[in-house]
Amino acid sequence: ADQYNAAVAAARALNAYTVETPEDALACADVADAARRSGELKPLSGIPLGIKDLFATHGVDTTAGSRILTGFKPPYESTVTAKLRAAGAGMLGKLNMDEFAMGSSNETSAYGPVISPWKRNDGGNAALTPGGSSGGSAAAVAAGIAPGVTGTDTGGSIRQPAAFTGITGIKPTYGRCSRWGIVSFASSLDQAGPMSRTVRDCAILLESMCGFDPKDSTSLDAPVPAWEQGLSSDLRGKRIGIPREYRIDGVPDEINAIWDRGIAWLKDAGAEIVEISLPHTKYALPTYYIIAPAEASSNLARYDGVRYGLREVPQGGNLDAMYAATRAAGFGAEVKRRIMIGTYVLSAGFYDAYFTKAQRVRALIKRDFAQAFEKCDLILTPTAPSAAFGLNEKMSDPLAMYLNDVFAVPASLAGLPAMSVPGGLDAQGLPLGLHLIGRELDEQGVLNAGLAIE
Ligand code: GLN
Repeated sequence: ADQYNAAVAAARALNAYTVETPEDALACADVADAARRSGELKPLSGIPLGIKDLFATHGVDTTAGSRILTGFKPPYESTVTAKLRAAGAGMLGKLNMDEFAMGSSNETSAYGPVISPWKRNDGGNAALTPGGSSGGSAAAVAAGIAPGVTGTDTGGSIRQPAAFTGITGIKPTYGRCSRWGIVSFASSLDQAGPMSRTVRDCAILLESMCGFDPKDSTSLDAPVPAWEQGLSSDLRGKRIGIPREYRIDGVPDEINAIWDRGIAWLKDAGAEIVEISLPHTKYALPTYYIIAPAEASSNLARYDGVRYGLREVPQGGNLDAMYAATRAAGFGAEVKRRIMIGTYVLSAGFYDAYFTKAQRVRALIKRDFAQAFEKCDLILTPTAPSAAFGLNEKMSDPLAMYLNDVFAVPASLAGLPAMSVPGGLDAQGLPLGLHLIGRELDEQGVLNAGLAIE
């Protein structure tokens, strides 16, 4: 019992969960037992999953990592979590995350940072970030306190935390997973996906999460392939593109060394390696940091103290004062920064200079990929320009934080499927991720190349 309690305390110290729902996980085990006896097992029968706290879960607190949603218990269930339940899964709890999924280190959460289970091998005990915004999701899988979890990825939030914690995570093609019931950040970029230890587990989870949903107007009406059954690490006949523009200055040699190792592994699996060019890569980050805040500033207008969660009513104030007080108290600094940037780039005087231009560049970035995919079937890059960094290391420097997304955002802007798989460890013993980008709807190609690396 002492050992058990110590293990539970150690797991809780990671702060991965905002809410624990053990009764739900146990109930799913009972249902699975009954299903086994009657021969009606489903793909996820008896599997308890962690759910990122961005997914609306019926009757269970859904905070999106924000104070402004304190006490909000949705009267409905997101499509993705409903599908996971229909496939037999239960819920271990809701996973901590950056506030409204804005961040790369899980430090913007109103519920405190998530601590990575990894430590540097220098003998020190420095707390490291698990990455973000799906940091609770990544830490829970890496620490072995969830076999699989949901994440969401707007500009890298599944892939970067997967890389930082040595696990696997895939963002499918935009529209594969319904966004219905997922708290919106940037609607043209938001996409759900699974995170787990292996490519196979991700394939199994993804199959249950995807599918057309008439309740999401951007949902893709495409059949969901049997990805697990289609898994194969034989890459003969596949051409892997290596984009020259991703060899950027200032990226540590270790990252490039892991990248080279990934190239060698894919060659060993039978693939042909080709050099490609994605000429607008350097504009992807600034484009993302205009479009994402613009959409966020519009989406977050709904948090007004009337409809959800927190309400601050100043003495003698009117309705406007209530809005202002609620939003001042409910939103954290990063969310306020995004709303300010977003309203600025959408304002009458600057709309064309920023928002319209960003939309145009986004189209060019998409075109880069379309042209590259005439020469190759998949693209391999590093997932992030560094290994996990320490808590507080980048919080005072938003630009340094944003730079962490440099390799992840182009695929988001283009809506393409992309996955991070563990590539190896750096000199400090920390995991580094390899990043695969596929053609639209070619999750199978991405998963198969991931399997060859794994
Ligand atoms: N780190 C990026 C941001 O802060 C991406 C977040 C995400 O994908 N949700 O916007």
